[in-house]
Amino acid sequence: MSPIIPRALLWLSVYVLLALVPLGVALVHQPTEARGFWVELGAMLGLLGLGVLAVQMLITGRHRWFAPELGLDNTLQFHREVGIFALLLVLAHPTTLILADPKYLAYLDPREDTLRAISLAMMVASAIILVCSSLWRVTIGLPYEWWRVLHGGLALFIVTGGLGHALMADHYTAGALTKVVLAGVVLIPLGYLVDTRLLRALRMRRRPWRVAGTQAERGDSTTITLEAVGHDGLHFEPGQFIWVTLGETPFSLQQHPFSFASSATEPRRIAFTAKHVGDFTATLPSVEPGTRAWVEGPYGAFIPNPGRVDKIILIAGGVGITPIMSMLRTFDERRVRTPLWLLYANEHWEDVTFREELDELAETLPLQVIHVISKPPKQWSGETGYIDGDLLERRLPEDSSSVEYFICGPDPLMDTVEKALIRQGVSPTRLFSDRFDLF
Ligand SMILES: Cc1cc2nc3c(=O)[nH]c(=O)nc-3n(C[C@H](O)[C@H](O)[C@H](O)COP(=O)(O)OP(=O)(O)OC[C@H]3O[C@@H](n4cnc5c(N)ncnc54)[C@H](O)[C@@H]3O)c2cc1C
Repeated sequence: MSPIIPRALLWLSVYVLLALVPLGVALVHQPTEARGFWVELGAMLGLLGLGVLAVQMLITGRHRWFAPELGLDNTLQFHREVGIFALLLVLAHPTTLILADPKYLAYLDPREDTLRAISLAMMVASAIILVCSSLWRVTIGLPYEWWRVLHGGLALFIVTGGLGHALMADHYTAGALTKVVLAGVVLIPLGYLVDTRLLRALRMRRRPWRVAGTQAERGDSTTITLEAVGHDGLHFEPGQFIWVTLGETPFSLQQHPFSFASSATEPRRIAFTAKHVGDFTATLPSVEPGTRAWVEGPYGAFIPNPGRVDKIILIAGGVGITPIMSMLRTFDERRVRTPLWLLYANEHWEDVTFREELDELAETLPLQVIHVISKPPKQWSGETGYIDGDLLERRLPEDSSSVEYFICGPDPLMDTVEKALIRQGVSPTRLFSDRFDLF
């Protein structure tokens, strides 16, 4: 069994245990007044919702200690799915209570207690907005930066409000010790949220970077090279990524993730290559050398280990070549002799980013580069169309337990390749995927 499975189960258990703490605190406490089953169930759903929402803040805070081996894409996918479950709990809490005993409608009646009614209604509305704005952000045209502010703000409001509500309800939370334990469990993740959004930028100020140069690349992309200013740079593994902010202050809404494209042997001089897809990336060609930059990381588990396997297979689509470039440049510097295959899909031959350098790398590394072009030029004699199961079978070496696959590209390519390889008998534990389109 791959070591990742027990570790994933361990992190899942940690998550579940933390999320259950408010419920556990309530069950340990013996309330004086006995209530019916459905009322108790309604109260428990609320406490469970509070626990889940609090722990949700821990797992997306890019804390390097939390499940680093699982990768950001898996963690965010989990966060998204559990977020929907948390919303259902938040909605089920008042619904079950009111259906069990209509007297609980008074909680939402402004004539009984205006502040309480407004805050509870706002909490429910906020939970709905939180989830819907995340699921349909692109459809409603909400810019990523504003969504991030909204998401953090609403999460803070719902969790602090939920804690206040649980403490004031006073049924399961009577007694100073119970209140302190409950507040601790909820406030610790809140502290981490403040750390993620505020203190981390303060720490970044101690390790500034400057733009050393920009370089236009094929495929409507730009490479930005950054130089460490007055510190020893950033030690990373090829395949990892950073969050980058450009400009005088690290307290900017414009913080974007990019994979390292440069060799891991140069921690003081790092580079990333970005495709111009939106407002931030479109400005990269005009970034002036000398511009201040702020770097957070490294992150990610998309890391090859040539010493661990007999062969490494790299599969890229478009700008998904960037982390793979970092791998190849690092392997070249380190004189790696593990056989390598690169399947690289693009629409047009003219837009194949790094195509000349890949030819050079194929001379010095034991590397076979196979270009796959969906709209090839007239004289093209290489592979055409898209990467699919048939092409993988024809062009890749036979699978064995010591082959690892690294896939990075647009979602349709990744979905097709992952499914095809699994169908061909490749164990999912030997497939490493890096998804750029996470949010
Ligand atoms: C782990 C990872 C590594 C990446 N590496 C690369 C790379 O090496 N090269 C490359 O070209 N692209 C990479 N990306 C994608 C890159 O981050 C986005 O293309 C970029 O942030 C788009 O910003 P924009 O404002 O120009 O475009 P927009 O039009 O604002 O955004 C386009 C899409 O990019 C995503 N995005 C936008 N802003 C952010 C943000 N601040 N944080 C996270 N996602 C955002 C959203 O899904 C959005 O819908 C990577 C993404 C991830 C998650």
